[in-house]
Amino acid sequence: MTSNNAETLFIDGAWAPAENGATRTIICPGTGEEVGTVSEGTPADARRAVAAAKRAFDDGAWRRTPAAERGDFLLRVAAEMGRRKAEFARAEALDTGKRLVEAEADMDDIASCFRYFGKIADSHPGRLVDAGNPAVISRVVYEPVGVCGLITPWNFPLLQASWKIAPALAAGNSFVIKPSELTPHTTLLIAEVLNDLGLPRGVANVVTGTGADVGAVLTSHEDVGMVSFTGGLATGRAIAESAAKTVKKIALELGGKNPNVIFPDADYDAALDNALNAGFLDSGLVCSAGTRLIVHESIARRFVDDLVERANSIVMGGPFDESAQTGPLISKEHRDKVTDYVNRGVAAGARLRCGGHWGGAEHEAGFFYAPTVLDECTRDNPAVQEEGFGPVITVETFRTEEEAIAIANDTMYGLSGAVWTTDMATANRVSRALQHGTVWINDYHPYIPQAEWGGFKMSGIGRELGPSGLEEYQQAKHIYHNTEPAVTGWFPKA
Ligand code: NDP
Repeated sequence: MTSNNAETLFIDGAWAPAENGATRTIICPGTGEEVGTVSEGTPADARRAVAAAKRAFDDGAWRRTPAAERGDFLLRVAAEMGRRKAEFARAEALDTGKRLVEAEADMDDIASCFRYFGKIADSHPGRLVDAGNPAVISRVVYEPVGVCGLITPWNFPLLQASWKIAPALAAGNSFVIKPSELTPHTTLLIAEVLNDLGLPRGVANVVTGTGADVGAVLTSHEDVGMVSFTGGLATGRAIAESAAKTVKKIALELGGKNPNVIFPDADYDAALDNALNAGFLDSGLVCSAGTRLIVHESIARRFVDDLVERANSIVMGGPFDESAQTGPLISKEHRDKVTDYVNRGVAAGARLRCGGHWGGAEHEAGFFYAPTVLDECTRDNPAVQEEGFGPVITVETFRTEEEAIAIANDTMYGLSGAVWTTDMATANRVSRALQHGTVWINDYHPYIPQAEWGGFKMSGIGRELGPSGLEEYQQAKHIYHNTEPAVTGWFPKA
């Protein structure tokens, strides 16, 4: 991979420039400095990559590799990720502006993801079915889908990519991935790893470029069998429409508006600390961020006062600033969107308790936004209903458990949520009542590759991680084998 001479398309086992020579400069959002130059792929480049992936799939070198060996390969990828962790984390921190420690944690999670899918690659051999006829061998087998189009966002570039690449390869598919145009470098590095470890030519392809040019080819091309996308709701809808024309399988992870419900009997210090973590970790650029704080009215005043005090002391800084506790937003455009989102929330009646600005003069070079708390929100406030995707926590209060559940479910999204209480029965009832794909009780944010991740309602379709995360990249085939063929007699000879 050679970022600075801009031959960053990885197609059919070789690095190449865009067919028209176009390039894009990548900027670090924490410092405003140039990080590198990558090729800006075109629709023709994307079609070339799909053709290579199709050839590789049809050729069968990877899909016919025994599943256990495909698993071993993924375990080697995990080991290589561990060996090159510092290099990968640095590249991720430069592209996203996130703090190096956060990028390092992401790299550990990525290695775990490859390890998990490596271990379960051969765990789904199919099953025998009793056809009710002793002469029949009836079995269901799980086969790869074919060419997978993988489209990933900028907040956790390689983590989101690994949730797709690892199961796609475990299942025996080939793929073309389009990383966000803003954060391509770690996806290029993983292509290098896959190639160096000997993945057959054409199985893994990367085309950097925009959603409109490269992404749109992946979602509409008739040789792409499934599309897995992580990103915003509007883009997810456009992708679903485009994929419908060729009736592709789709998996969509479209973010959320995630409630964090605090009962009065909760462990106060842990709930407060985790409320900060839920909303402000990674500058709130997390699809599962707990930005909708729903706190019991009896403790709300003290809780929110303490939250504001703690939020005010959070130190913003670039990826390699060791004093920093949180990083920037991804781009100037995104900061403008968050600014507008907060302004609309305030205009609709929310009380701005802290933040709502871009930081001091020392933050001018990057795209920072100060941790923000919007208090006294009503349920219909746009800041409560929309995914702000920034470090902004909205506050609502409740009196009864029923009211807390109703508020927490009053959203078109359903990705994740949390409940804080020391009462087992309350925890059980509320966690079952929340219409969200992941629910934490007395915690926020942890996920494990063994457990499914995905959304209810408009947070998406399908699941990543867990056994279902592998099944997304497989299709079931029923093979009905009659070992004693006989005349049926339905249409007798005249
Ligand atoms: P998008 O959802 O638009 O982008 C995500 C990816 O999809 C990028 O790779 C993008 O390409 C690609 N893409 C865009 N349009 C198309 C298309 N028509 N066909 C195929 N691929 C396409 O995210 P944004 O950056 O615009 O962010 C918008 C909002 O999405 C955020 O404010 C946030 O609310 C939400 N979001 C949610 C994420 C999550 O984790 N669920 C992650 C990121 C954002 P390109 O390189 O051109 O951008």
